[in-house]
Amino acid sequence: MLKKLFKSFRSPLRRGKHPHSTPEVLNSSQHPINRGEISRYAISVVERLQHAGYQAYLVGGCVRDLLLDIDPKDFDVATSATPEQVRAEFRNARVIGRRFKLVHVHFGREIIEVATFRANHPEGDEEENSNLSSRNESGRILRDNVYGSLENDAQRRDFTINALYYDPATERILDYANGVHDIRNHLIRLIGDPTQRYQEDPVRMLRAVRFAAKLDFDIEKHSAAPIYKLAPMLRDIPSARLFDEVLKLFLAGYAVYTYELLVDYGLFGQLFPASAAALKHNPDYTDCLIRNALANTDLRIQQGKTVTPAFLFAALLWPALPARVIKLQERGLPAIPAMQEAAQQLISEQCQLIAVPKRFTLPIREIWDMQERLPRRSGKRSDLLLENPRFRAGYDFLLLRESAGEETGGLGDWWTDYQDASDSERRGMIRDLSSQDDSAAPRKRRRSGSKRKRAPGASGAPKPAAGE
Ligand code: ATP
Ligand code: MG
Repeated sequence: MLKKLFKSFRSPLRRGKHPHSTPEVLNSSQHPINRGEISRYAISVVERLQHAGYQAYLVGGCVRDLLLDIDPKDFDVATSATPEQVRAEFRNARVIGRRFKLVHVHFGREIIEVATFRANHPEGDEEENSNLSSRNESGRILRDNVYGSLENDAQRRDFTINALYYDPATERILDYANGVHDIRNHLIRLIGDPTQRYQEDPVRMLRAVRFAAKLDFDIEKHSAAPIYKLAPMLRDIPSARLFDEVLKLFLAGYAVYTYELLVDYGLFGQLFPASAAALKHNPDYTDCLIRNALANTDLRIQQGKTVTPAFLFAALLWPALPARVIKLQERGLPAIPAMQEAAQQLISEQCQLIAVPKRFTLPIREIWDMQERLPRRSGKRSDLLLENPRFRAGYDFLLLRESAGEETGGLGDWWTDYQDASDSERRGMIRDLSSQDDSAAPRKRRRSGSKRKRAPGASGAPKPAAGE
């Protein structure tokens, strides 16, 4: 919600989409930010740089969020000082990044990120002594390491609402791209020509969606229009960067809405092609399972609980498993190895696009394996499963599958009861199982010659959609 004062402020009428060389200046009575809301470390970094004779401002997400009365995640500083000059001013500063150098100034656990003003690489402008072009053939910017003026810096930023500069000394905001106007009107608008700006960096399409979901803003129509067509450009983005972006998309507390926007703009299928195929073949189950997983993630974040990317990826990919399991079974693989192989294939294909680190892919496999094991509860198996460090995630995942309508014969309820039961009650539950339900018994060896295939649903994987 905008603050009262800000609501009454009349924004400038200029609406050109190109940034101005002279900014609109808002003095302290024209905007609602007060210094007290800002990290004192961020202010001290800015003041220190200014005293040393450099230009320095708070910039980007923190100014935007303060105007919207949202607690900024972090505070970024933009300055005319080079990284080396910044480092020379602070004892607690470290230069990070090789290509795009930044300085991190450390204050205990708080880090203030300081970036030197940068300029866009003009098209066709190649650095001396380099045979690398700054853009590839589709216009993507490959290098972004040219320092520039404050005006240049505003121009190379992505959205108008992210190009606001706040000077804590004068308490003035500099607005080069009518960002204040767009904040007031709840609009995500690219600076400059949208198609060109997406081509320069296709990740901006994901950022547009992320900010639209986080701030509950609309993507302005010219900025929205090219996304669907340009979405395939995401395929060229390094997989490690996409992993970071996907986490930001789904771990910001607005994952359900973000997912809807990603699907609407044709971005989801570029990130998760196998899941998008499952959405086509088995729409109700897939959509419901993904939504429920994301809603649960949002809730946990709201409650300050941890969320593991492994669970998230396990859920996003799970509906894509059955089609693959069946294909492998048709080629003669028995159910369990088919499931294992399908999981392996699916994860490695996904990692080509989004580099999910091993520390998460292993737990994904374990959560899925657990789905095979949870139905098999006889003898000591149940107690052993309970002790398995992955039990909780596996059990939660089982409940998620059930919440999306998967039929498991009441397995989730059984495990819920079992966890609460006393030792003797547990023994009773196991006895009851073996007398009434042969699925609970250890898997019988199939008579030789039996060609019956186990349906993936029975082995833990979701039932394939009709017609798959
Ligand atoms: P938040 O940190 O709340 O997610 P933010 O706007 O601070 O939002 P960051 O990713 O921290 O986002 O980036 C800081 C600033 O750097 C942005 O506000 C924007 O001005 C600029 N920026 C970041 N990524 C890009 C990009 N791909 N293209 C152009 N400018 C960018
Ligand atoms: Mg930020």
